[in-house]
Amino acid sequence: MKFGGTSMAGSERIRRVANIVRRQQAAGHEVAVVVSAMAGETDRLVGFCREANPLYDPAEYDVVVASGEQVTSGLLALTLQSLGCKARSWLGWQLPIHTDDAHAKARIEGIDSEALLASMAAGEIAVIPGFQGLSDAGRVTTLGRGGSDTSAVAVAAGIGADRCDIYTDVDGVYTTDPRIVAKARKLKYVTYEEMLELASVGSKVLQTRSVSLAMKEGVRVQVLSSFIDDDATPADEIPGTLIVSDEELEGLDMERQLITGIAADKNEAKIILTRVPDRPGAVATIFGPLAQANINVDMIIQNVGRDKGETDVTFTVPSADLLRAQTLLEAQKEAIGYNRIITDGKVAKISVVGVGMKSHAGVAATMFRALADRGINIQAISTSEIKVSVLIDEDETELAVRVLHTAYEMDADEAA
Ligand code: ADP
Ligand code: ASP
Ligand code: MG
Repeated sequence: MKFGGTSMAGSERIRRVANIVRRQQAAGHEVAVVVSAMAGETDRLVGFCREANPLYDPAEYDVVVASGEQVTSGLLALTLQSLGCKARSWLGWQLPIHTDDAHAKARIEGIDSEALLASMAAGEIAVIPGFQGLSDAGRVTTLGRGGSDTSAVAVAAGIGADRCDIYTDVDGVYTTDPRIVAKARKLKYVTYEEMLELASVGSKVLQTRSVSLAMKEGVRVQVLSSFIDDDATPADEIPGTLIVSDEELEGLDMERQLITGIAADKNEAKIILTRVPDRPGAVATIFGPLAQANINVDMIIQNVGRDKGETDVTFTVPSADLLRAQTLLEAQKEAIGYNRIITDGKVAKISVVGVGMKSHAGVAATMFRALADRGINIQAISTSEIKVSVLIDEDETELAVRVLHTAYEMDADEAA
């Protein structure tokens, strides 16, 4: 069971969570619980790091931001004990959860689950702070924003859990963020492939890595709400959204929609390098150093070379890495040979995702037309087999998502 930040925000909510956990144990399950920091806490801690040093050392950043989850794991263990349950916390370094040393976005390499299993077998509820890991060098790492989802799936895989239930503040995965589009529809099932793509383009309901890990390890994942009525036993065993394989979905005989979901991501920033020499190796000198600094580049456009043998290169990086990327590129100005660097943090990436696209033409055309009709300008485009993404002005995010939700006929009946 994993509980997100909103579910852990304050003593009262933690008590509610403890009751949900206790009921599962009472129903005969052995339970491991992964918790997030209280809502807003990680942002607060990140803010302190930025104030201390805008170009912060990611290793020290991890020391600071990992603390939010330490607090909630201890508090949940205490609250469970107050309800008469046996419970103890297991910090990331105590298990440990082994990760690589890519601080602030570390990748889990394995979990030592022996002690955990022994304690659970003895009737103890294991409470594990999400987000935290330990590098080979013995330093605390964190898994990137939203990383507690990945901790939960990794723990589930490590202990061979029957299921990984991700409790959050919405009651499942919707066709788009239900906080943006009131007419979004809840999906009963979504495939790993679709969820992976949705998460990777910004549906923050699950962290991308948690989905790829679940897919790789065959972990059954359900997304559901922790804000359900305490006494209401759901008639349905799966009240939320279940992530299933392609074959499983076919067995369920669901009607396949062309588009599964729409996602928006405001956490990207655009960089333009003007008048880059149009010769072999130029692009490599731009992206090589960024890769070395662990900065993920997403959309890339290289304009057709102009007559003077020069070209503009436009690309996006995570907003959190913009300053570092800019600093790096400025240091490489001579080597790359560009003229000017222009950055824009006020962009958003809007994506439509669906496996139905593999066999249907016209998905992109519908998107471009619908946006054009509202006067929304497209700054960049990228596609994959089951996704089309466009970069637009950040101020137009909500409008674009609503317009597309309607254009693909995904709106729920108003009566429903
Ligand atoms: P937690 O703190 O529990 O990890 P998050 O805030 O990370 O919760 O994720 C839950 C949020 O994800 C929801 O409140 C919702 O606004 C957002 N969200 C974005 N896209 C979707 C979607 N397609 N379906 C459901 N929720 C979504
Ligand atoms: N607390 C971390 C964050 O806010 C991890 C998580 O909640 O999943 O990103
Ligand atoms: Mg989350």
